Amino acid sequence: MHTRRKLPQVEPRNNNINACVCSKWEEVSIMDEKNIPIRTYQVCNVLEPNQNNWLRTDWIPRSGAQRVYVEVKFTLRDCNSLPGVTGTCKETFNLYYHESNEDRESYIKESSFIKVDTVAADESFTQVDVGDRIMKLNTEVRDVKVTTRKGFYLAFQDVGACIALVSVRVFYKTCPLTIRNLATFPDTVTGADTSSLVEVRGSCVNQSEEREEPKMYCGADGEWLVPIGGCLCSPGYEEKGSACKSCTAGFYKAKSSDPGCSKCPPHSHSLRDAATVCDCHSGYFRSDADPPSMACTQPPSAPQQLISVVNETSVVLEWTPPRRLGGRSDTSYSLECLICQTLCLPCGSDVLFSPSQTGLKTTKVVVSELRAHTHYTFIVHARNGVSLASGAGATQSVSVSVTTNQAAPSPVSFVQATDVTRHSLSLSWQQPDRPNGVILEYEVKFYEKDQKERSYRIMRTFSQSVDVTGLSPLTVYVFHVRARTAAGYGEFSAPFEFSTNSGIHALTFCTVFIISRRSKYSKTKQDSEEEKHLNPGVKIYVDPFTYEDPDQAIHDFAKEIDVSSIHIEKVIGMGEFGEVCSGRLRVQGKREIYVAIKSLKAGYSDKQRRDFLSEASIMGQFDHPNIIRLEGVVTRCKPLMIITEYMENGSLDSFLRKHDGQFTVIQLVGMLRGIASGMKYLSDMNYVHRDLAARNILVNSNLVCKVSDFGLSRVLEDDPEAAYTTRIPIRWTAPEAITYRKFTTSSDVWSYGIVMWEVVSYGERPYWDMNNQDVMKAVEEGYRLPAPMDCPVVLHQLMLDCWERERAERPTFSQILNMLDKLIRNPGTLRRTVHDRLLSAVTLLFPCVRRPTGSMLESGLGPEVCVSVVPEVCVPERSMCEWLQSIGLERYRDTLAAAGYTSLDSLLGITHQ
Ligand code: AMP
Repeated sequence: MHTRRKLPQVEPRNNNINACVCSKWEEVSIMDEKNIPIRTYQVCNVLEPNQNNWLRTDWIPRSGAQRVYVEVKFTLRDCNSLPGVTGTCKETFNLYYHESNEDRESYIKESSFIKVDTVAADESFTQVDVGDRIMKLNTEVRDVKVTTRKGFYLAFQDVGACIALVSVRVFYKTCPLTIRNLATFPDTVTGADTSSLVEVRGSCVNQSEEREEPKMYCGADGEWLVPIGGCLCSPGYEEKGSACKSCTAGFYKAKSSDPGCSKCPPHSHSLRDAATVCDCHSGYFRSDADPPSMACTQPPSAPQQLISVVNETSVVLEWTPPRRLGGRSDTSYSLECLICQTLCLPCGSDVLFSPSQTGLKTTKVVVSELRAHTHYTFIVHARNGVSLASGAGATQSVSVSVTTNQAAPSPVSFVQATDVTRHSLSLSWQQPDRPNGVILEYEVKFYEKDQKERSYRIMRTFSQSVDVTGLSPLTVYVFHVRARTAAGYGEFSAPFEFSTNSGIHALTFCTVFIISRRSKYSKTKQDSEEEKHLNPGVKIYVDPFTYEDPDQAIHDFAKEIDVSSIHIEKVIGMGEFGEVCSGRLRVQGKREIYVAIKSLKAGYSDKQRRDFLSEASIMGQFDHPNIIRLEGVVTRCKPLMIITEYMENGSLDSFLRKHDGQFTVIQLVGMLRGIASGMKYLSDMNYVHRDLAARNILVNSNLVCKVSDFGLSRVLEDDPEAAYTTRIPIRWTAPEAITYRKFTTSSDVWSYGIVMWEVVSYGERPYWDMNNQDVMKAVEEGYRLPAPMDCPVVLHQLMLDCWERERAERPTFSQILNMLDKLIRNPGTLRRTVHDRLLSAVTLLFPCVRRPTGSMLESGLGPEVCVSVVPEVCVPERSMCEWLQSIGLERYRDTLAAAGYTSLDSLLGITHQ
């Protein structure tokens, strides 16, 4: 499609083509085909040769055109139809042009014109009928490039033809204004050449935007070629007939690339034209990520049917999805954990949620690492993409409250060893991180590392420490500790390895009296042990001396026996207040039993009566299988009598002496266990015996040992001189009790250690023949009784523990009892004796153990004395190294050598210092 533009009307003129006035063109009026008169320019000089007749137009402005078209309509006479014109008649004419800026050129040289073409007639006419002329009208079009001046002139040259110019039309071509792909392309003049294309950039129509630069080419013929690029209607507008029209209400268009306006999605509307998005109905929402084409949605309703299953300190929570999902499929859940006591507070960060606490896609979560026995509230929130848009408070949730179960404590994480000796060590540890309740007990499992767990020992304690005794020197032990609550035992701790010390010090000590050792039984423990005695509910011993009337005390605690029911048989001993007899007691309704009868000899003072009866008042308060049982008293007639159960084997010291070496170690330990049990009972009742010694232990026919003789307890009371009176049992008494009358259960423990020694040595006299002064001095200087012959290492160790200078460091009777129980359960631990180890090397480093010579004891307490008798059996030629090896202490060789002890001889000179 192209347009032809007419150039301004041109009238051919013949008078001014050039200066030649002899131009033969004439302006003639003729009738056209339809008999309408028209004006023509004619020439017809066919008879004369060399015709050159010019006819020129006025100046034609170019008007921006680059190529103009000239359409000439004319008639031409056929030369053949003219008689006698041969040679001179022509049937063509020439078309010329001349470019010029000058619109009124009066004279233009012929040579200034440029020939466009020689124009011939398609059809010529042959005859002239004056009345009815038949003219054949020719139309010829020529185009010419006019680019150099503002306008041009056209000229027609006749060279001897018979022509009539009917019309000359001059025009140029344009590509017309058009809209393609929503871009407007303006009316565009075609290019100068027939093949030239004019590139035209289009501009987007109203309410549209460029998709890609709109371009189109205008061809020389005035036709547009294929458009390139184009525009798209803006959001809110759609294409309608090459224009962009707004979307009407209820429709929207979000993006220019969208094909057209769309109906608003569900639960949304648009009230105005040209909506780019539809607004949600009230109560419906759209998230930032939701496309405008998506329906408006709602937050979910609450999760349903929340179920909790508690498993110790874990909770499994499960629920079903909300009833209404709000038209979305992106529901997720989050858990809120509250720990609720009086107030509910957020749970700590140590609580674990599996698979996660927030953003849950599943409807099940496991919450673990909760505190035991604690109230929790769990809130499950349901959310979706529009929960936030709808406001934070709109989250729907469901909650459940649970109480976790009691759980076993977490493992003990840290165990340390202190006070390591060759046979013992003190273990202490920290409470588990999560006790999960009140810790009732700790259990310590240990074994020799080499033994692995093939055989192990177990100790139990209430405190966070324990003294492990009876260990082998220089041995690595593996310890595990675990705690127990009402929920049971927790896991054992990781293994902790500790090694016992070597025996070098013990060796030195064995050569002398035993020097007081490390602190072992802590004050705290002793105190707590003592505190226990004051606990309410525990029966406490009542001192009969607090009674104003001693007879009242005796009536409160002892049963009056009718003397007629007592049948005395024989005298079995001599007591402090008179004879002790055996006999039989027949109480009505009971079977006859054997009894011991202590009587108060005639002529006694009030004080003696009081002291005598006080023993019954004390004894009457006790009821324990290892405490001598009071059957009753005779106070209503004389002599006054105290009736007790009969102990067939009499006092322990004489009994052992009578049966020297006849018992197994286990039997001896059994006896010691009985005594410890009785003493524990007394200490639990807050009773301090003050005169615990083998002579005050009675033995029955079953070898059961019972503590007796409760008479001394008050004798020393408040007597500042008592410490040095002959009544104090110096050898059995703890230093602090001797020195400042500090009699406590701990001083009874000291005495118990001496009883142990008496028992293991079959009734040997402690410190033999040493006098009391020397004994006190030796003890004060740190010397202790050595192990009796064949004494198990563990027992001597326990004795040494009882003889700790610091009373707080001594074991309690409870601990002693535990220890002995363990020894009885593991008799193997009793097999090793002190002498087994020493005899192989030096035979009897301390021969004074059994029967020391008087001179030795007399001559002093210093170690030199004892050491001087050592090497009698020692093989002199044996090297120091061999000897150390034989007792497993070779690693001290260098230490001894450095100190100048290179031979056994030189070792004999070793002193305590
Ligand atoms: P005592 O006055 O309690 O030291 O008793 C003196 C001695 O009498 C004791 O050493 C025992 O040999 C003996 N004896 C005391 N009580 C009893 C008893 N219940 N059974 C057997 N012998 C006893």
